[in-house]
Amino acid sequence: MTIARYTVFGNPIAHSKSPQIHQYFAQQEHVQIQYTRSLVAHTPEAFQAALKDFFEQGGQGANVTLPFKVMAYEYADQLSEQACTAGAVNTLIRQQDGTLRGDNTDGIGLVHDLTHTYQLNLNNKRILILGAGGAARGIIAPLLAHQPNNITIANRSHAKAQQLAQQFNIHAATFTKLSGSFDVIINATSGSLNAEVPPIPHQLFANCQMAYDLFYARHATAFMQTAAQYGAAQTADGLGMLVCQAAQAYTLWRGFQPETASVIAALRKEMIA
Ligand code: NDP
Repeated sequence: MTIARYTVFGNPIAHSKSPQIHQYFAQQEHVQIQYTRSLVAHTPEAFQAALKDFFEQGGQGANVTLPFKVMAYEYADQLSEQACTAGAVNTLIRQQDGTLRGDNTDGIGLVHDLTHTYQLNLNNKRILILGAGGAARGIIAPLLAHQPNNITIANRSHAKAQQLAQQFNIHAATFTKLSGSFDVIINATSGSLNAEVPPIPHQLFANCQMAYDLFYARHATAFMQTAAQYGAAQTADGLGMLVCQAAQAYTLWRGFQPETASVIAALRKEMIA
C-alpha cells in the first residue's frame, strides 16, 4: 500500500503545527498519511525546485506558509476563485494530469471557526477588520459571502486599507478615527507578535460580540486582553482558524471532511500543558 504524501513549505517551518493537525484528520478518516515539514530557502528558484521535486516524487498535496504564499500563487497552473481574490495560495492540489491547482483556505477557515466553533451568525453583522496584509485580503470575500450588514477595514498604512476597500466595495477608516459600532472586530495585523494592539478607540469593544485575533499563542493575546477589559462579550485567537483552514485543505486533497472542534481542543490542551 502506498501512503499518500503531503508537506508544508515555509521558512521558518519548525514551529508548524500542520503535520500534527493533519495526522489528527487522518486518524478520523482511518487512513495513514505522511505529512512532513519542508524548509525552503527564501528565493523563487529554491521554492520552485522544492515544489517540482516534491510533486515529481509522488507528493499529492502541499500547504504553503510564509513567505511563499504569493510565489505559490504565481507558480500554480490553475487557481481557485478564492486564490485569485486573495492573490495568494496556501494549498496546492496535484490534479490527475499532474498539474497543480492553487487554492486559499485561510478565509474559509476563519469563517468556519466563527460560524461553527463559536456559533456566530455573520448575517447582518457590522464587521471591523484591522490590518490590510495578506491575511486580511484573504478573509474579506468569505466574510462577504455571509452577507454582513457592512465591513470596515482599517490599517496602519491607510492607502492599503483604501485599496482593499475599493476592490471589495467595503468601507475604509484609520485606526484612531474609527467610530460607530461593530459586532465583530477581527485583528488581522501582525502586531500581536510583539504584543502591540492597534490604537483603536477602546469604547468600540463595549458593543462588540466577538473580538477575534488571527494570531494565536499559549495565552490570550494583548488584543484579546484589551478587548475583554473594555467590554467585548467574547474573545478568540486564531488557533481555530488554523485548524479549520487545514480541514478545508484536507477536504480538497482527499474528499474527506474532518471534524475540527476536537482537534482544536486537543491542540489547545497541548499548548497550555
Ligand atoms: P502581513 O505581513 O501580510 O500583514 C501585516 C499587517 O499587520 C499589515 O496590515 C501591517 O500594517 C499590520 N501591522 C504590522 N505591525 C503592526 C503594528 N505594530 N500595529 C498595527 N498594524 C501592524 O501579515 P499577514 O496578513 O500574513 O498576517 C497577519 C496576522 O495574521 C499574523 O499575526 C499571522 O500570524 C496571522 N495569521 C493567522 C492565520 C491562522 O491560521 N490563524 C493565517 C494567516 C495569518 P502595514 O500595512 O501598515 O504595514
